[in-house]
Amino acid sequence: MAQNLAKEYDVVVCGAGPAGLNAAYTLCSISDGQCRVAILDKKEPWREPVSCAEAVSKKALEQFWPSNEAWIRQHLDGVYFTSPDGTKVDFTQDDCGYILNRALFHREMAENVEKKGAFCHFSAECKSLFRDAEGFWNVDVCVDGVTSSVRAPVIVDATGPGAKLTQGVPLLEALEAGDTDLEPAIFAIVENVEHNPRHIELLFGNKYFPGGYGWVFPRDNNTVNIGLVNGRKFLRTHSPRAILQQFLAEHYPSAVVKSIHGGAIACGQSLKPLAVAGFFKSGDAASCVNPISRSGIVEALDSGHIVGECAWKWLNANSTTEKESIEAETYARWMKVQGNTHLRLCKAKLAFSSIQDCHFDKAAHKLARIPQKKRTLFRIFFTVLCTSPSLLWKMRSFVFVR
Ligand SMILES: Cc1cc2nc3c(=O)[nH]c(=O)nc-3n(C[C@H](O)[C@H](O)[C@H](O)COP(=O)(O)OP(=O)(O)OC[C@H]3O[C@@H](n4cnc5c(N)ncnc54)[C@H](O)[C@@H]3O)c2cc1C
Repeated sequence: MAQNLAKEYDVVVCGAGPAGLNAAYTLCSISDGQCRVAILDKKEPWREPVSCAEAVSKKALEQFWPSNEAWIRQHLDGVYFTSPDGTKVDFTQDDCGYILNRALFHREMAENVEKKGAFCHFSAECKSLFRDAEGFWNVDVCVDGVTSSVRAPVIVDATGPGAKLTQGVPLLEALEAGDTDLEPAIFAIVENVEHNPRHIELLFGNKYFPGGYGWVFPRDNNTVNIGLVNGRKFLRTHSPRAILQQFLAEHYPSAVVKSIHGGAIACGQSLKPLAVAGFFKSGDAASCVNPISRSGIVEALDSGHIVGECAWKWLNANSTTEKESIEAETYARWMKVQGNTHLRLCKAKLAFSSIQDCHFDKAAHKLARIPQKKRTLFRIFFTVLCTSPSLLWKMRSFVFVR
């Protein structure tokens, strides 16, 4: 990928995860190469490890990027839901998703972004920014220890969870409002564990997974990804690494741990805007993650697509009023496709995190007695709900009122 950063672009995209890559791809595509786009990342987006369990819904992913066997690790046909006492409920459905090789997926995206005409620099760290008198954003970019500046009327911040670019920039205070609810997540790449390669397993229970869940996801050949994400308020009592190690020792004593990786998940979808004065936020940087499933790959692609389209419109707008209305439209579009659902899920999550282990177990025992073909996701959800009376009460507005 090219190395010489010009002084000025129409759009500088900071961060080349799925959000940034899709924003850049969309901008280059809809402008037919007219938009001068630079996409910067502090590391190559295909550099391993990518801190992720890499599960996606096939249907959702394919709305944004055509599937390619080259970056699919596994095709999935089901989920085991495992209750605290170890009861496994098997939910099977053809083509329910993939385990990706995200490094290869990012590489394909980045190559296509470059082919479409974007300038890609993947050892460029965006440090800080300010807006100059002409209304251009100036980003300080550090490459090999040397800092230089690049300017553009539009910036896309796709720097992932805990994004810091807007911090201390008075004009962007509105983007900083609200709680990003950054949750720590951790996983181990493990060998010597028997696992159905076409199923993912989701585990529940307050001993290891308070306010969250654990997972066992198939990877390549004989490796699996075993991890957990817990509610942020349990961080002190349940150190993610210690809990993961304890879980592995107790449940997979013969597992061979090849490596352990951590990351953060920005679950706190809030009511803050997504764009101000030509500065757009996308993906995890804008907390676009599903707060219950904690999935964020397709969400990042979706928000990157919206931001790419709106940023191009913004560049072609003639007045401040028109630009402000496009900024508002960015938020409205996101809220319509996913944001409103996420806000509702944020509330449901509070109720879910209060489910007692005995209720999970009771629901699992009930579900295990239902013939497998009749176990729909809806039935699973309702069985859990009805087994926990306090949950049913807390969730009444979701269940009975729309
Ligand atoms: C342990 C774990 C497991 C997960 N499992 C799943 C899963 O199974 N399915 C799912 O859908 N989601 C999962 N997620 C969530 C998913 O990984 C994210 O939601 C998704 O990656 C968000 O994409 P993004 O482009 O917004 O951000 P990122 O993928 O985080 O990309 C941000 C990019 O910005 C770059 N960057 C950061 N700061 C700077 C800077 N200052 N200058 C330049 N570049 C910068 C980073 O290097 C990175 O490449 C998981 C997350 C974690 C932590």
